[in-house]
Amino acid sequence: MLSADFLHLEKDVEMVNNYADIFHLDIMDGTFVPNISFGFPVVEAIARKATKPLDVHLMIVNPEKYIERFAKAGAAMISFHYEASREKSSAVIDLIHSFGVKAGIVINPDCPVESIFPYLPAVDFVLIMSVFAGFGGQKFIPESLGRIKAVREELERIGRPEVPIEVDGGIGPETAPLVIKEGASILVAGSAVFKAPSPQEVISIMKG
Ligand code: ZN
Repeated sequence: MLSADFLHLEKDVEMVNNYADIFHLDIMDGTFVPNISFGFPVVEAIARKATKPLDVHLMIVNPEKYIERFAKAGAAMISFHYEASREKSSAVIDLIHSFGVKAGIVINPDCPVESIFPYLPAVDFVLIMSVFAGFGGQKFIPESLGRIKAVREELERIGRPEVPIEVDGGIGPETAPLVIKEGASILVAGSAVFKAPSPQEVISIMKG
């Protein structure tokens, strides 16, 4: 939703309701990432009109401080950055679960993918950033493909092949088949969809 038209948010919410599967909300705090996106009033407004689950991606320091509020605002899925939580990651996952919300761990392109392996037994999904968190409209980083494959293989190795891998950044009709081939099943698309003349057509091409 970072690429939505905030003056006509209802129109874009309806588009997602009609053609996509989830609302992906990027929450930026100006500290973990240099940018600031939007906060609770916008999330709550989207939640009032959304008929698809809200997927809240926290690009913030100290995510544990805000998880309860995002859960109460209507999040069905909440993900936090490993780089923002490090050794607190298990506690953050438990906290998300305590509100009955699905928990995801996120990793930036420059962090070794093995860093999140200890948390794979506990999460409900994994979010692999295919650009650096913080801004919309960036170009897909090709090395992300090997990282998706490595997480997919590790999930299979630990007996959790059902855990979905979500990919965020530079996803559009050209990159979608590549990430699906490596084992991703939740694709976050911003500008490729919202800036297209026909968002529904782009979504249907990406769904294949
Ligand atoms: Zn995101």
